[in-house]
Amino acid sequence: MLVATDIHRHFEGMHAVDGVSIEVAPGKITGLIGPNGAGKSTFMAVIAGTLPTSSGTIVFDGKDITRLPAYRRARLGLVRTFQLPSEFARLTVLENLLVAAQHNRGDSLFGALMGKRYWIEDERKLVQQARALLKRFGMSAKESDYAGTMSGGQKRLIEIMRALMLQPRLLLLDEPMSGVHPKIVQEIQYYLQDLRHEGLTILMVEHELHMVERLCDTVVVMAQGKVIGSGTMSSLRKQQEIVDAYLVG
Ligand code: ADP
Ligand code: MG
Repeated sequence: MLVATDIHRHFEGMHAVDGVSIEVAPGKITGLIGPNGAGKSTFMAVIAGTLPTSSGTIVFDGKDITRLPAYRRARLGLVRTFQLPSEFARLTVLENLLVAAQHNRGDSLFGALMGKRYWIEDERKLVQQARALLKRFGMSAKESDYAGTMSGGQKRLIEIMRALMLQPRLLLLDEPMSGVHPKIVQEIQYYLQDLRHEGLTILMVEHELHMVERLCDTVVVMAQGKVIGSGTMSSLRKQQEIVDAYLVG
């Protein structure tokens, strides 16, 4: 589904991503692991299109998207989550979902207001879609609460629902469970497995190796901007240089 070839991303001489090639198979959860500073988040941003690549090519579903901006990639079904920006803390949970979809159309607020009749019709469908997601994620009762009042774990769920509003085919998640209460970690695990079961493809950075083992079909290991190994978690555990570089403990 996704083929990234020889991706480089430099920051003023700093080789954050230094020639990474990966393939993401459809319908699978691919994990991306590695020590802090390995370049995982930078790589995810390059794939999402929120950071331009210094060199390399990205092909999504057979289409070269290397030069496409993030919103065009999202329209093709390649979507990443974002931390909830603070300005959305004072919107309700439901509004947060609606705004995410609205942004994706590339509409300015002005444009949205100008085309109000069209927009209202459209919004009705979006509200339905948002409520279905809230129900699925056990958040219906929170729809009118301000997002800013949610727990860390609930904010993570909002991020994921916001991404799902864009109806992705490939979802990019960067540490979706970090700083989340164990009970919600468990929930997020089930939701992700459920989404995969429905055919969603996921590429995720995750720190916690037991979670990676449970969730990911294939795992790619990065260190110092490079891929140092890939395969199933159990096959990686047998490779000494990977264990030495990263899997110690
Ligand atoms: P990871 O997500 O694996 O922890 P990152 O992709 O965040 O790693 O960072 C990789 C390296 O790139 C780090 O050394 C980091 O300091 C550097 N880096 C990341 N973003 C920037 C930036 N915007 N400007 C300069 N250096 C950056
Ligand atoms: Mg990171």
